Amino acid sequence: MKAAVYNGPRDIRVEEVPDARVEEPTDILVRITSTNICGSDLHMYEGRTSFEEGRTLGHENLGEVVEVGPAVRKVRVGDRVVLPFNIACGHCKQCEKGLTNYCLAMQPDPALAGAAYGFADMGPYQGGQAEFLRVPYGDFNALRLGEDAAERESDYVMLADIFPTGYHATEMAGVEPGDQTVVFGAGPVGLMAAYSALLRGAGRVWVADHQADRLALAERIGAIPIDTTDQDPAEVVKEATLGLGADNGCECVGYQAHDAEGHENASVTLNGLVDAVRFTGRIGVVGVFLPQDPGGETAQNAQEAHGRIPIDYGKMWFKGQTVGNGQAPVKRYNRALRDLIAGGKAKPGFLVSHELPLEEAPNAYKNFDARIDGWTKVVLHPDGAA
Ligand code: NAD
Ligand code: ZN
Repeated sequence: MKAAVYNGPRDIRVEEVPDARVEEPTDILVRITSTNICGSDLHMYEGRTSFEEGRTLGHENLGEVVEVGPAVRKVRVGDRVVLPFNIACGHCKQCEKGLTNYCLAMQPDPALAGAAYGFADMGPYQGGQAEFLRVPYGDFNALRLGEDAAERESDYVMLADIFPTGYHATEMAGVEPGDQTVVFGAGPVGLMAAYSALLRGAGRVWVADHQADRLALAERIGAIPIDTTDQDPAEVVKEATLGLGADNGCECVGYQAHDAEGHENASVTLNGLVDAVRFTGRIGVVGVFLPQDPGGETAQNAQEAHGRIPIDYGKMWFKGQTVGNGQAPVKRYNRALRDLIAGGKAKPGFLVSHELPLEEAPNAYKNFDARIDGWTKVVLHPDGAA
């Protein structure tokens, strides 16, 4: 089968690889029809996070079930399914608590927790930027879609990761009706956090970034854009709230954050949030901050390379703020968010800028990584439909 294979930093090639297949009785095999490129793929693409050469990327996957293992009871051949990026067993201590983001059984390294398709440090699983994908524990992991699956595919594919992830940021931030919420980052995740905050009834939502095209999308969904090239988000928010700051905030950038001078600086968004959020406010951090050495090429310094980031902890403590971190447990939210889409209440596909055949993956990675104007979210179609 054809797949988008990682051949080293900034080198993705579409190649023939061995066919994905059912390996365990609980597996299902999915023919992928939509698979997104994620901001998280860029950590590996840029060499910031090490990844094995020859492995297939892709953790935001949707498709049609073409085979089920003999122990699969619920999912049937022909079902249209969207797959959470987390691969979870459903029966470990963490999964029983709903913490599929930190499943213990699918991660072979006891020092780690959590698994994902085609992702560094998240188990040995292949990604879905390919014609077919093996899905472990298919009954647990696959979310079935209704009759409108094809019609709303560009909305439903966002359930694999960024819509639940953006929602998770607002959940950790505790966004309630009427709240004033500030989101750092207007990438796909930040836009989904802002969209989720508005769905939850936030009174006012700001989105900070320096990319004009992304800020325009934030404005289109009803958020207030803050252009960080000439505005300090904390100042803007405080000025609009009698100096108090936002009720809560979401970090949707990660360790590739840039400061006002355009230099990588992993602490700028976290400290910006500590400043912009009021006393006792909550902050949800879904942007990725990994404690591993990316080889130095893109690291600000050796400390940041190991995830040691200078945080204004004193100010955070004084303000009595609470911070939530980590990967999103997609399964906790995807069914409800699916039904919001099905009911016409949510259309997360608004941020799709490019729908391309899989063959275009190398170019799509290049343009998305370079943040070329207008490249907000890329959906690849291994079945050639675009
Ligand atoms: P992205 O790279 O497309 O977007 C990041 C945005 O942040 C860009 O638009 C960039 O211009 C902006 N930015 C950079 N520095 C900034 C600053 N100082 N202030 C404000 N904005 C700034 O990525 P994405 O797909 O939107 O993902 C965002 C982050 O979320 C990444 O770290 C990604 O790995 C992570 N992520 C986490 C989860 C999870 O489960 N926790 C899931 C998916 C993605
Ligand atoms: Zn993703």
